[in-house]
Amino acid sequence: MNNYYPFVNTPLPYSYDALEPFIDEKTMRLHHNRHLQTYIDNLNKLLEENPSLQKYSLEKLVCCWRTLPCHLQPPIRNNAGGVYNHRFYFSGMSAPGRSYTAPCLFEQIALQFGSPENFRAEFKKAALSVFGSGYAWLILDQGCLKIITSANQNTPMSFCLKPLLNIDVWEHAYYLKHYNQRAAYIDDWFHIVNWSIVEERFLFI
Ligand code: MN
Repeated sequence: MNNYYPFVNTPLPYSYDALEPFIDEKTMRLHHNRHLQTYIDNLNKLLEENPSLQKYSLEKLVCCWRTLPCHLQPPIRNNAGGVYNHRFYFSGMSAPGRSYTAPCLFEQIALQFGSPENFRAEFKKAALSVFGSGYAWLILDQGCLKIITSANQNTPMSFCLKPLLNIDVWEHAYYLKHYNQRAAYIDDWFHIVNWSIVEERFLFI
């Protein structure tokens, strides 16, 4: 994955129709080719105009925007965050119908949330609670699993939290198929979470 300026929109690790019927091909094309591309273009333009930032990795930009000059903070937070959050979201999904395992993470989920069903219910509740645009996340906070939400393109990384899984609840992520039914989109999304990737994120801290 390309992590430094100039950023490019790397291909998805699956085809645009791979997540059917849970997320439709057209939504995936628009989300990846248009929405994510716009964040990448805007971030490249910002870094082109501010060469001192070109040596920063995407993670560093996402984590350190508060240390930048005031006029750069919002655009770097929004656009570096937009690239990071979307890449994280896309790479956390995969074609349905395959059996993915995450034994260590599921053990921790059972300890922390009581059961996988409770975790799922709490995650869904959090994702539904996001007002307007943003994300719900499963994160590690000093070794503890937590569910949090973020607005716009903010990321948990900028609060020193380790992200494990996220769902984009901006309407562009689901409106073409699910219209205004965010709950139905969240239920569908659970069918295509790539738990093997989430387990890797969990284990390799
Ligand atoms: Mn999005």
